[in-house]
Amino acid sequence: MTSWSFSDESIDYTGCCMSARDVIADLDLSGIPTVPFWRPDSVAILRDKDAIIRFNRYWRILSGKSLAKYLIAKKFAVDEYDPLDENSMWRIHRDYMEEFHDFLNTRNDREILDWYEKSSFPHYNLLRLKHDLSNAIVKSCRFCEFKCNINRAEGAVGRCRVDAKSRIASIFVHIGEEPELVPSYTIFFSGCNFRCVYCQNWDISQRITGVHLPPIEVAIRIDERFQANEIRNVNWVGGDPTPNIHFILGVLLYTNSNVPQVWNSNFYNSIEALQILDGVIDLWLPDFKYGNNECATRLSGAPRYFDVVTRNFKIVNGNGDEILIRHLVLPNHLDCCTKPILRWIHDNLDLSKVRVNVMAQYRPEYQASAYKDISRRLTKDEFNEAIQYARKLELPLTS
Ligand code: SF4
Repeated sequence: MTSWSFSDESIDYTGCCMSARDVIADLDLSGIPTVPFWRPDSVAILRDKDAIIRFNRYWRILSGKSLAKYLIAKKFAVDEYDPLDENSMWRIHRDYMEEFHDFLNTRNDREILDWYEKSSFPHYNLLRLKHDLSNAIVKSCRFCEFKCNINRAEGAVGRCRVDAKSRIASIFVHIGEEPELVPSYTIFFSGCNFRCVYCQNWDISQRITGVHLPPIEVAIRIDERFQANEIRNVNWVGGDPTPNIHFILGVLLYTNSNVPQVWNSNFYNSIEALQILDGVIDLWLPDFKYGNNECATRLSGAPRYFDVVTRNFKIVNGNGDEILIRHLVLPNHLDCCTKPILRWIHDNLDLSKVRVNVMAQYRPEYQASAYKDISRRLTKDEFNEAIQYARKLELPLTS
């Protein structure tokens, strides 16, 4: 598959065929929050044609022309169901997700906004169904590919060490993310299903710390920050957000802001988890760490890693979703990881809604000194080689 580059070709982004120039002209990005002094690139990105076109839906939500998916799901009526009957909930979910996709694909933004304004909140709605499904999964947890099948609702903990009560390690407006995202309301959960020996957040990912906050309180904080025009998105991260899907959906049941939802994850989600998140997440922000299963098993304790994450990339890319892929270049891992990853992205994804961040900021933290290959920082030459390779493939890069 070849990569995309944007000139002024016609692209069907909004239900009617518009040129790239028209798509940009149709957006008023002047009211979007920025961090001009600390992050001037958060201002410059608003004039970056490639960023605007590839993440067009994201920017349209921020300019009020489109709706965050979770808001649509909250007004999308489904059949009455028994929250104790998981099989029937899945059946209803499957049927209504088909309708949901059909609804999004056959109406333009204006029609969806009109529908939203005229509709009330049905008790049985798609978001509530997803929440109830996630609460059923917690009782035999398989949110990620470890599939521990333990009852977290009764206090059991699996690989991630998180019981059913999510713990929030920190929650703040982050200005260190990619320019598309800054300022980003970042919610860090404690706990992770991976064991990355170089984890830079090991104090919250490998230890259970933080506090229990009621979902409604987190929702109020999101709404307050958004109404104050301080944030561009809600950025669910950790550790990893995956063990907390039921909590996140619980928060969104109370949230009212038209703010994009960002999934900042190692992407080791199960297919069931991805199905639940489909129709909720507006921008995927997954890591792509390793180009093979062996490095992933040795350095992150994640068996079948490459098979799982490439499957997940294909699923969300196939759904037509917007994706910002992060790859942290590891020292001595150019040939086994960086280049195969970049090549895979080039060969397997439709890049029209994808941007890639090739990151240089590796530091040998936590237990990395015990692993000779990653016990030092990246050299300039290594990073240049990674970037040159990405450029040779004409991947759409961000920073
Ligand atoms: S989220 Fe945690 S408990 Fe659930 S399957 Fe993954 S590691 Fe196991």
